[in-house]
Amino acid sequence: MKTVYVDNNATTKTAPEVVNEMLPYFSEFYGNPSSMHSFGGEIAAKREDARAKIATLINAEPEEIIFTSCGTESDNTAIVSAIETRPDKKHIITTRVEHPAVRSMCSTLSEKGCRITSVPVDSKGRLDLDYLYDSICDDTAIVSIMWANNETGVIFPIEDIAQNLADRNVLFHTDAVQAVGKVPIDVKKTPVDMLALSGHKLHAPKGIGVLYVKKGTRFSPFLMGGHQEKGRRGGTENVASIIGMGKACELAAEHMQEEAAEVSQLRDRLERELINKIPQSIINGDKKNRLPGTTNISFEYVEGEAILLMINQFGICASSGSACTSGSLEPSHVLRAMGVPYTAAHGSIRFSLCRYNTIEEIDYIIEKVPPVIERLREMSPFWKQGV
Ligand code: PLP
Repeated sequence: MKTVYVDNNATTKTAPEVVNEMLPYFSEFYGNPSSMHSFGGEIAAKREDARAKIATLINAEPEEIIFTSCGTESDNTAIVSAIETRPDKKHIITTRVEHPAVRSMCSTLSEKGCRITSVPVDSKGRLDLDYLYDSICDDTAIVSIMWANNETGVIFPIEDIAQNLADRNVLFHTDAVQAVGKVPIDVKKTPVDMLALSGHKLHAPKGIGVLYVKKGTRFSPFLMGGHQEKGRRGGTENVASIIGMGKACELAAEHMQEEAAEVSQLRDRLERELINKIPQSIINGDKKNRLPGTTNISFEYVEGEAILLMINQFGICASSGSACTSGSLEPSHVLRAMGVPYTAAHGSIRFSLCRYNTIEEIDYIIEKVPPVIERLREMSPFWKQGV
C-alpha cells in the first residue's frame, strides 16, 4: 500500500540532500569538535558553517545561534532563562494556544510562584492584542508567543508585537518551530529577543534544535556541563544533525518562495474539494494568515480518531488535533480556545503538506476521505439527530 504523508507539522522527511551531507559525520569524521587536535578542529569548522547557514535563514548573526536537542528544549531554555536572569520579575505572558513545550513549562513555573497570563484568541484563532498589551506590567519578565500555530497554521503578527514590546522592558520569545523555513523570518526586522527552531519540522533530522538569542540578552544556561556553545549549553554537540540542519536551512532559504506557492496551491485544492464534497465541514483558523501547507478541517458529528484510523487503511497519514495530544480523546486545547463547538472540535483533522507532496496524492485524498466521512456519519446517532 502506498503512503500519502500529510502530517508534516508532526515531523518531516529528512531531505535526501541533508542525509548525504550528514553521512560522513557518522563514519569518517567522528571527532569531537571540542578536541584540540585538527581531526576535531575540522568538525568544529563544519559546525560553524552550519551555524552560519542557520543564522542566514533568519538574518541573525552566527554567534546568536545556540544548538539544543529540540524545539522543546529551546522553548524551555528561553522561558527559564528569562525568569532566572530577572529574579525581581515573576509574571509570564503567553497565549491559550501555545504548544505544550511552552504551556507545560509555564504551568511548572506557576507552581513555583510565577503568575501566568494566557492571552485569548477569537473564533478564527487570532490573538486578542489589546488583552496582550493591557496585561504587561512592571512584574512581567517575558512574553512568549508562537509565530505560527501547529494545529491550525494561523500566523500571529509577531513583527507588530515585537515593535510594540521593544521599549517596554520585557523579553520577547517566539516559538517559531512551525514557521521557520515556511515563511520568511528576519530577526532584524522583527526584533525578538529569543526564537526557537526545530530541525525535524524543516526536513532536518529529529533531535536537533536551535535557540536564537539576540546579542546583549542576559542568558542563563538550561543544561550545565562543559564549555560547549560558549558555556551557554553544556553537552557534546550532535554534530551530524547540526550539519544536517545547516543544509536544511540552506535549502529552505533557496527554495522557500516557490515551495510556499506550490504547497499552498495543493492545500487550497484539498481544502476546496473536501469542503465542496462533504456537507457540514468547516475550516478552523484564519484563512488569510496561515502557513502555506496547513489546513485544519472539522467534519461535524464524527470522531477525528475514527477518521484517522479509516484513512490510515488507505495509507493516508494525517493528524487529529496535534500529534502530541492525539493520545487522548479530549478536544484539542487550541480548538477549545477558539470556541469551536464540541461536535466540530471532536471531528477535526489536520492535513499538513510539504514540498514532497504531489497533486496525485492530493487527488487521492480527495477521492478517499468523503466516503469515509459518509460511512462514519451513517453510524453516528449524533449525525442523525443533528441533521
Ligand atoms: N513548538 C511547536 C509549535 C511545535 O509544533 C512543536 C512540535 O510539534 C514543538 C514546539 C516541539 O518541538 P520538538 O518536537 O522539536 O521538541
